[in-house]
Amino acid sequence: MKNLQVLVSDVKDRRKITKGPEPYFCEALSDITKSQDLSIRYTLSDCENEVLLEANVKGKLGLECNRCLEDMLLPVNIKICESYPAAQENIDINAIAGELLVLEIPMKPLCDENCKGLCAACGKNKNKTDCGCRQESMDTRWEELGKVLKKGQTTK
Ligand SMILES: [Zn+2]
Ligand SMILES: [Zn+2]
Repeated sequence: MKNLQVLVSDVKDRRKITKGPEPYFCEALSDITKSQDLSIRYTLSDCENEVLLEANVKGKLGLECNRCLEDMLLPVNIKICESYPAAQENIDINAIAGELLVLEIPMKPLCDENCKGLCAACGKNKNKTDCGCRQESMDTRWEELGKVLKKGQTTK
């Protein structure tokens, strides 16, 4: 749906405008998302001194997991219910949808709350392989500690 700017006078003339569901792309999210698979449906009704907007945007947003950097899909389903003064010239549905959709995206998106992320040593995705690096680094740390302790004993 390209034109999401609706003239209030059109709503006044037609009393009620209903559109969708139609595919929707949110410009406000284009920098944050890798992909968007959204649809929008809306109804505008003339209520005397106000115009009421009721809308629903739902679908999936393609993001990158903050821990493992894999692509992930975030399901979204937002409901918009806003009233605008009838004196206003037009209603920008895209603007309000963008504002609300941005809030749906977490600061640090995770493919799964238990995502194990990438190995700090080898960079492998720990959800997919058990690279065993942590085990090694633990062992070497014990070795180092052992050396330090031994040194302490010999100087005594
Ligand atoms: Zn992840
Ligand atoms: Zn590793």
